[in-house]
Amino acid sequence: MKKKLNSEDQKHLVRFLRDLIGIPSLPRQEKNVIDRIGEEMSKIGFDDVYVDSVGNIIGKIGDGNKKLLFESHVDTVGIGDIARWDYHPFIGKVEDGFIYGRGASDDKQGIASMVYGMKHLMQSDLELDGTIYVVGVVQEEDCNGGAMEHVCNHIHPDGIILGEATNLGINRGQRGRTEMMVTVKGKSAHAANPHQGINAVYHASKIISKIESLNDSFPVQDFLGKATVAVTRMIADPDSTNTIPDICQFTVDRRLVLGETEEKCLGELTKILQDEGVEGNVEILEYVALSYTGFKIQLKEFFSAWELPINHDLVKVASSGLEESFGKKPRIGKWSFSTDGVITMGKLGIPTIGFAPGDEQDAHSLNDKVNINDLYKAAVGYAHIAKSYYNKND
Ligand SMILES: [Zn+2]
Repeated sequence: MKKKLNSEDQKHLVRFLRDLIGIPSLPRQEKNVIDRIGEEMSKIGFDDVYVDSVGNIIGKIGDGNKKLLFESHVDTVGIGDIARWDYHPFIGKVEDGFIYGRGASDDKQGIASMVYGMKHLMQSDLELDGTIYVVGVVQEEDCNGGAMEHVCNHIHPDGIILGEATNLGINRGQRGRTEMMVTVKGKSAHAANPHQGINAVYHASKIISKIESLNDSFPVQDFLGKATVAVTRMIADPDSTNTIPDICQFTVDRRLVLGETEEKCLGELTKILQDEGVEGNVEILEYVALSYTGFKIQLKEFFSAWELPINHDLVKVASSGLEESFGKKPRIGKWSFSTDGVITMGKLGIPTIGFAPGDEQDAHSLNDKVNINDLYKAAVGYAHIAKSYYNKND
């Protein structure tokens, strides 16, 4: 198989990614970008291209029993104040060897290079003893894995390559996360007579300082690092400037290492309420939303940490494929942000790794961009991973 993408495909890949960046695709509004990806897959010659009931786009090559699935999400976060962007977020500006725009590093670069990687693979005339899927999923930014779980339950892949930014290295794990809501109760009164009430905000502030200090006692693991906790958002009720609030609610973002469970996370916070003698409760938030096709995605916001062992076959196979492609061994690491891997590997136990162009630091930033050369290299890298996975020679 050739080590470089041919110049025609390079041009088409850049055009394709710029088109994808030009189609805004907030979670639950992905229809247009999904259609554009489907059009490119069909043009390139995937054996089958279809949109599932959730609205994910699926391109299929081959028909064997062993199934390797390449996945990137197609939704993006918002742009904030457009005036703060150096380059328009929906133009896909090409400058100094980079493409700029929302989704350039998270995660449209992933799906674009996967699609062209499979074109490169098809041009090599290798016979694959298996099936390859390239999947663009929806609503990842809203709910990691919500849409991807549906894909896995229908396709049952044997291995998954996530197209989230890894700077062309292999990532084999990440911390998990959960979102919790703490409700602290008090007694309302007129703010002119605070002694007649119990101020739920004062109670909450005691709890919050104890939550902050939990960070000192959390486990640290060799590969994934440290578990963390942060209070992120707070509201008081009644929503009035001259009433002592009897309810204060705040959300807690908890990042998890291996082995941390729902019970452990809930228990830590419940214990603080009890120790402080504060009335209230703790719950894990739930995500419920309809996809753009009207499919209801519902799941608890608890996503386990995951780590695929460094000597796992999928890591080895991908590493040797990329070594053949790049002429050197790829770096093997982890993400600090969260991906669909929390469901694919964290919940379903399907061997999962990540490989993609783009820098994690640029994701969600006003400087969202991807290096064009890396885009080409990633496409060829995906083809070599597939080749290595199916163990066929040129
Ligand atoms: Zn992402």
